[in-house]
Amino acid sequence: MTRIKIEKVRDPVCGMIKPKSKMRAISIYMGKKYYFCTEGDKRMFDRHPEHWIPKGGE
Ligand SMILES: [Zn+2]
Repeated sequence: MTRIKIEKVRDPVCGMIKPKSKMRAISIYMGKKYYFCTEGDKRMFDRHPEHWIPKGGE
C-alpha cells in the first residue's frame, strides 16, 4: 500500500485548508509558520497577527 502524505495547512485568515505547496504566502509569527492562499490574507495577518491566531494553541 502506497500512501503519499500531503501536508495540509490552514490559512488562519480565511479558514481555507490546502496543501502547503498550493499556498501563496508564508508569515512567521512567534517562531511559528502560517500559510496563506493569497498575499492579501498574509497582509491582513501581518497587521494584527494575534487577532487571527486561534486561542489556546492547536
Ligand atoms: Zn486565504
